[in-house]
Amino acid sequence: MDQPIVCNLVKDYELEFNILKAYVTPREEGLLVLELSGEDKNYEQGIQYLREAGVKVQPLSQDIIRNEERCTHCGVCVPICPTGALVVEPLTRKVNFYDNKCIACELCVKACPVRAMEVHF
Ligand code: SF4
Ligand code: SF4
Repeated sequence: MDQPIVCNLVKDYELEFNILKAYVTPREEGLLVLELSGEDKNYEQGIQYLREAGVKVQPLSQDIIRNEERCTHCGVCVPICPTGALVVEPLTRKVNFYDNKCIACELCVKACPVRAMEVHF
């Protein structure tokens, strides 16, 4: 982004923020998970500002869980995950899921051939 979007949310819309996760993917897309608080009206206007600035905004009201019984550790999900939450363990060749890095983008949910990645609301 060529704008200090988080700074503007504070300055122009009086929103408080807490950055939960932030990543820049290899394709140089920025991913930011923010907790925002403030007046409802300011929140709506702040989100509108983000959208108009070209930011794709989605609520994080869901969680991604891996069904360990279903996962075959095939590795299909590893290159798809933009945040490195799914990683092959070099020694065991098992796929580890680090849910603290997951931003619930759901890419792995669609990609997993045995539907081991599940969305929970
Ligand atoms: S694609 Fe599905 S089965 Fe394969 S490693 Fe990922 S979660 Fe496990
Ligand atoms: S939903 Fe899947 S692909 Fe997206 S960040 Fe979480 S683990 Fe990675």
